Amino acid sequence: MFTSLQGRTAIVTGGSKGIGRGIAETFTRAGVDVVITGRNSDDLDRTVAALAGLPGRVSGISADICDPEDSRRAVTEAVRRYGGVDIVCANAGIFPSGRLEDLTPDDIEAVLAVNFKGTVYIVQAALAALTSSGHGRVVITSSITGPITGYPGWSHYGASKAAQLGFLRTAAMELAPKKITVNAVLPGNIVTDGLGEMGQEYLDQMASAVPAGRLGSVADIGNAALFFATDEAAYITGQSLVVDGGQILPESHLAIAEL
Ligand code: NAP
Repeated sequence: MFTSLQGRTAIVTGGSKGIGRGIAETFTRAGVDVVITGRNSDDLDRTVAALAGLPGRVSGISADICDPEDSRRAVTEAVRRYGGVDIVCANAGIFPSGRLEDLTPDDIEAVLAVNFKGTVYIVQAALAALTSSGHGRVVITSSITGPITGYPGWSHYGASKAAQLGFLRTAAMELAPKKITVNAVLPGNIVTDGLGEMGQEYLDQMASAVPAGRLGSVADIGNAALFFATDEAAYITGQSLVVDGGQILPESHLAIAEL
């Protein structure tokens, strides 16, 4: 039995859609007050309306994760609305595809700015609040792509997701004396609008490569993030948890065919 997180406050970047929205829903169901961020106000409003009525309160702040000032504003506003910040879920991310020969410096910069720099900015912005909470939690949404696997078209994306884990290890060390843990969830293929844009053929192909026989749900990731946020996970830091239905396990497609 885990100690209740009722009354704690979380910021979920990229909480307006997809995995971030799933994390926000899992946390609000657990009684956590959640601030979700994203750039598109309509998406934020839609998600806030959809999650209203759950045990935790939820509200949105329009913020671009690439701008450190926006992250500071989001944290200040979360503290004003809910009295503090106990948990930061650094989740906002983009995954545009581009083969190595076609990638421009702007393509590379855009992915690193959101996925890697944005992770650093929100954690930096929340440091004082997480420290005063006495039990700060950072949960980063990385990916199996980059840290463990590769996929054509995602060299820059994979690098950004691996960069998050490089950041995580030293951040976990630096913040351990402040009783802040820093961990990451590494999703496999999770059904979201973003992934849906890859097309049905891609989704079917990916599902057939997963030993569990299905793609992941946003709740699968939300539950893993919630675990890292618990008091019972206080002694776990600098770690990453793969949540992929066994997707990285098969040695080849023949191994899947044997199932
Ligand atoms: P999604 O459905 O496209 O949602 C992305 C979220 O990030 C949206 O809320 C979006 O809001 C926000 N975002 C994007 N750029 C932003 C910016 N510059 N500033 C602030 N917010 C921004 O994507 P998803 O599939 O849920 O992916 C979420 C995270 O999971 C990413 O880090 C991704 O790398 C990781 N992931 C996803 C999968 C998967 O299968 N879906 C697998 C592995 C890892 P706005 O566009 O309104 O800003």
